[in-house]
Amino acid sequence: PSDFQGKHVTVAGLGVSGVPAAKVLHARGAIVTVVNDGDDARAREQAAELEALGITVRLGDGETLPEGTELIVTAPGWKPDKPLFLAAGKAGVPVWGDVELAWRLRGPDAAPWLAVTGTNGKTTTVQMLASILKAAGLRTAAVGNIGVSLLDAVLGEEHYDVLAVELSSYQLHWAPSLRAHSAVVLNLAPDHLDWHGSMEAYARDKGRIYEGNQIACVYNVADKATEDLVREADVEEGCRAVGFTLGTPGPSQLGVVDGILVDRAFVENRQKNAQELAEVSDVDPPAPHNIANALAAAALARAFGVPASAVRDGLRAFRPDAHRIAHVADIDGVAYVDDSKATNTHAAEASLASYEPIVWIAGGLAKGATFDELVARSAKRLRGAVLIGADRALIRDALARHAPEVPVVDLDRTDTGAMLQAVTEAKRLAQPGDTVLLAPACASMDMFTNYNQRGDAFAAAVRELGA
Ligand code: ADP
Repeated sequence: PSDFQGKHVTVAGLGVSGVPAAKVLHARGAIVTVVNDGDDARAREQAAELEALGITVRLGDGETLPEGTELIVTAPGWKPDKPLFLAAGKAGVPVWGDVELAWRLRGPDAAPWLAVTGTNGKTTTVQMLASILKAAGLRTAAVGNIGVSLLDAVLGEEHYDVLAVELSSYQLHWAPSLRAHSAVVLNLAPDHLDWHGSMEAYARDKGRIYEGNQIACVYNVADKATEDLVREADVEEGCRAVGFTLGTPGPSQLGVVDGILVDRAFVENRQKNAQELAEVSDVDPPAPHNIANALAAAALARAFGVPASAVRDGLRAFRPDAHRIAHVADIDGVAYVDDSKATNTHAAEASLASYEPIVWIAGGLAKGATFDELVARSAKRLRGAVLIGADRALIRDALARHAPEVPVVDLDRTDTGAMLQAVTEAKRLAQPGDTVLLAPACASMDMFTNYNQRGDAFAAAVRELGA
């Protein structure tokens, strides 16, 4: 329990985490100064709201450390090499993120955290986990980057038995004292390296999620880097390493046998060496990467003592969010699938592995990624490709190198009508039994506001063609 009375706290960044953090700290007697890089209309509005409460706000300068600062509470996205943090480091001022603040403010009988991170699949896994916990009759919520904010979950009226917490690598970087009940790193692929500085630093930040775990550190058997992180973590005595695999599980693993999800780590009846949990067809969609997400969610729920029947009921009740491998329509025997959320190559590879043959719609902002591996591994599944967006030449070149026989339509336009033309071209390439798959492997902001709008444009175009 932290005492903030009279303490000089600097909140770095307005916005979704900064404003509530400033309010809570102020209410607990801290002398709060908010610093913010931007000075736009939205920032001024938020500043006025805080100033009315007696909080000092400095707009347009998020770099200078305010005189007398004893603690910084930062928005998770702020880069560690910012001058503000370098100055804090020199002055010995600690820096907490929003997660650290929530962790420190939680009450003495607070709900334990089941924590999820990874390059891809976090939101899906956390939602599956919450669904399973609810099916077991537990009071819970999916919190963190999604749904309820962590501060609300920790400080709100609602009482929870357990929380399903999604954590980004940024949030973990700024959460030094977080200790989860159990946690999982779903997978590790290069992402956000400009922020973390290197793959090693990125992995180290993700690995923080295992520190101090009480019951289980869950890792991906197919991704050795996640197992290495478990081995390096300093955990509570008796905490177990538990793997999940799409193959037959070994001891202390969850896996798949004959289309059934089975648990060999937390077996209820000691006479048996495996517990059946659910069928593959209970998972929506039953694509390989999504079965992996379901196994990871099941492992955390089982670590918390949830019975097998609740795993099945919870998975059956779960429906994926929009734009994550969403089936849009079948037209003339061709399926149209929206995975606009596949904004990096690792995610796109997972969805390309789920179908065959595929007419692939891809492209957008590459964020420094290379496409050779993705294209080489997926080439044999491709019927054709339609490329859109700013960095489409990178994908076109990779296709030329690794899949020269695959027909490619290169759309040189970024206006709002481009998606309709892309889908029209894809329809032309597709044959009955094929899947037209939007899995861009790129960010959307060159052509769209966000991945939601991109996926909506795809779905609208499909409906227009089908009409
Ligand atoms: P996150 O919250 O980590 O961004 P989501 O659950 O929102 O993850 O899924 C994002 C995208 O990543 C999905 O649309 C899918 O293409 C891909 N994906 C989901 N789970 C996995 C996984 N386990 N491995 C690889 N890719 C995945």
